[in-house]
Amino acid sequence: MERRSLIKSLGAFSLGAWHSALDQGEKLADPYVVKHTKLDTDVLVVGGGTAGTIAALQAGRAGVRTIIIEAGSQLGGTTTTGGVVFPGIFHAWGKQIIGGIGWELVTDCVNEDGGELPNFSIIPNNTTIRHWQHQVSVNGALYTLLAEEKCTDAGIQIRYYETPTQITTSDTGWLVTTVGKGIEAEITCKQIIDCTGNASAASLVGYKLLRDIDTQPGSLIFRIGGYEYDALDLNQIPKKYHGMLRQNQIISGKVTNPEGIFPANVPYGYVYVPGADSTNAELHSQANMQGRSNLLKLLRDLRTHPGCEKTRILDLKTETAVRETYRIDGEYKVTHQDYVEGRVFEDSISHSFYPIDLHREGKSIYQEFLKEDVVACIPLRALIPRDSANFLVAGRCVSSDRLANSALRVQASCMGMGQAAGAAAALACIKGVTPGTLPISEVQDLIEAHGGIIPR
Ligand SMILES: Cc1cc2nc3c(=O)[nH]c(=O)nc-3n(C[C@H](O)[C@H](O)[C@H](O)COP(=O)(O)OP(=O)(O)OC[C@H]3O[C@@H](n4cnc5c(N)ncnc54)[C@H](O)[C@@H]3O)c2cc1C
Repeated sequence: MERRSLIKSLGAFSLGAWHSALDQGEKLADPYVVKHTKLDTDVLVVGGGTAGTIAALQAGRAGVRTIIIEAGSQLGGTTTTGGVVFPGIFHAWGKQIIGGIGWELVTDCVNEDGGELPNFSIIPNNTTIRHWQHQVSVNGALYTLLAEEKCTDAGIQIRYYETPTQITTSDTGWLVTTVGKGIEAEITCKQIIDCTGNASAASLVGYKLLRDIDTQPGSLIFRIGGYEYDALDLNQIPKKYHGMLRQNQIISGKVTNPEGIFPANVPYGYVYVPGADSTNAELHSQANMQGRSNLLKLLRDLRTHPGCEKTRILDLKTETAVRETYRIDGEYKVTHQDYVEGRVFEDSISHSFYPIDLHREGKSIYQEFLKEDVVACIPLRALIPRDSANFLVAGRCVSSDRLANSALRVQASCMGMGQAAGAAAALACIKGVTPGTLPISEVQDLIEAHGGIIPR
């Protein structure tokens, strides 16, 4: 045999041998079917975002059976999937005002990432704290890993890709029907905590919701690079891009190192998405697509400016982060006046600290800074839908007017609410009552036993 045909036949033989090793024959598979499952738990947390993760952790650590269902594929919500990786505000006027499980997760994340906490003792020369200096930069990827590990360690069942379609009362409490990827589940539980950010579970039950005619724009968060900073003619780049790119350090004559601005190591850019709404798959898809299209336009335009020719995307969040949709109409509605006066309630379960902070498309952010030594408070009643039983919410859908909500919605406050809701739900299960009838001191004591800070 000639040398060439010998090599060829050897090749054919060895390829055949490979194939037989890889291809071991087909078998007739069962058709794809939707799996039906029934589960029973004490506390069901709907939405595993900023507040929901902490609510579940508190309930699980208080010793009650806890399930968390999350429509997405990871924990953290706006903090991770949305890319808002700089939670705040845990400190005000030189002292810590929000602690507990949220603070534990945030600080563990910073420590395990080799990061550094900001200097919280800084109180700037005027009466307004530069709040962004007190936000904590976290590594979003690590945050999701730690959140999941902590939930697993607390015995919490996490169910991703799942959402409720119906919520009715049952003999023992609630019957929640859910759908997910290839799943239909019936979950019975004693207490529900709605942490969807949109009050979706509360709405399914039929509780009344609040929503303003105007809502703040959402933001799609990205990072870009590849531009030559020294070659940039900043005056040539349209003014309308300056805010969007400021955090990315591309725009701002004074910004030459990331340490100088915002929380260290969090350079990012964003495009606004007017009317962004994450209430259902259709609306959130639209918000995501609008954000992506806006970014593409920005990128293409930027590349026409000197120094930006090679600008490229380094990172893009998978979802447009949404600021405002629905809130519950609760047993108490926190007002703008309550917030800016720092009103302390008998049933306060957490502090909240941020300026009134309303984003407006095409206009500057409306901000009102709190006066010196003022720190706002959140009452448990604001987490309880009016005329409800065995149901709590936590996070940005807390019962509040629009201006109060623009400050209450920040992450540390959402975490504080999450912990309080988890504590109240767990105690209610243990005692067989509805959260609104619990002696408030018992809820407050449980929060404090898990490191939380109660306004007194
Ligand atoms: C662009 C932007 C910038 C911000 N900047 C800051 C800042 O600088 N500092 C700060 O502290 N805060 C900031 N915030 C505010 C803050 O991040 C959010 O308000 C807060 O994280 C909301 O927390 P949450 O738990 O209420 O909702 P989320 O964290 O959004 O969690 C809701 C979770 O519920 C899930 N979910 C929703 N619907 C369903 C459903 N039907 N079934 C199952 N799961 C569902 C979602 O997938 C998500 O995981 C910013 C917000 C935005 C959008």
